[in-house]
Amino acid sequence: MLELIDSHCHLDFADFNPDRLKVLARAKAKGVTHFLVPGIGVHNWQAVLTLASQHQGVYAALGIHPYFLADFDDSHLQLLDDYLATAKNVVAVGEFGLDKMADFPFEQQLQICQQQLLLAKQHHLPVILHCRKAHNELIQLLQQAKLPRGGVLHGFSGSRELGMQYIKLGFKLGIGGVITYPRAAKTRQAVSELPLTSLLLETDSPDMPISGYQGGRNEPANITEVLQTLTKLRQEPEELIAKTSVSSFFELFLS
Ligand SMILES: [Zn+2]
Repeated sequence: MLELIDSHCHLDFADFNPDRLKVLARAKAKGVTHFLVPGIGVHNWQAVLTLASQHQGVYAALGIHPYFLADFDDSHLQLLDDYLATAKNVVAVGEFGLDKMADFPFEQQLQICQQQLLLAKQHHLPVILHCRKAHNELIQLLQQAKLPRGGVLHGFSGSRELGMQYIKLGFKLGIGGVITYPRAAKTRQAVSELPLTSLLLETDSPDMPISGYQGGRNEPANITEVLQTLTKLRQEPEELIAKTSVSSFFELFLS
């Protein structure tokens, strides 16, 4: 069986409360050995850390997602700084970023994003980035930040040119369920051409359903569907894609 990694899954979400252990077991039965669970705001950091401490192969990231800024105040950044200094099993800062669809002033999003980039730099950690309709602004922040360990743009969707802009800055791209949709022609074309060494696999579960499973809950075991689609699109051996993405994950987060 091929070793696989789900580089972005929200295993702490309440969607998994009824059967979290079974979800993990199903993924492990399909070869998934590592799970990276990103934080989204102060309210879920403890849950993410608890999961990582309880389950082998589960790793934590802590960050403030642009969708969860309604009750934001500066003390959250101070708390993040404290957590990053002391918490165990934290391998990245994230997920955070910029989102023009989020119901929160964009100027403030820019500041909060910049401050989290700074924390990543200070704690010498890679980042997990979320971005919607704000790539130019995010790329500009990344150029200024000069992160020592780079990171991943999660949920990549877009052109080859866009992907290359991140790759040239030393970033990986998180490839998920988007590519299983025939209508995502531009992204499918892009992932067939981008350098394999820059691609990580992710489900973003419970969100981002695989094509054909819309309306249902997504889960890490479905990472095999992402791999299969990527294999078809790239016309490369499945083992090569699996192995390369696993090495890239280790190199970025666990080295
Ligand atoms: Zn996410």
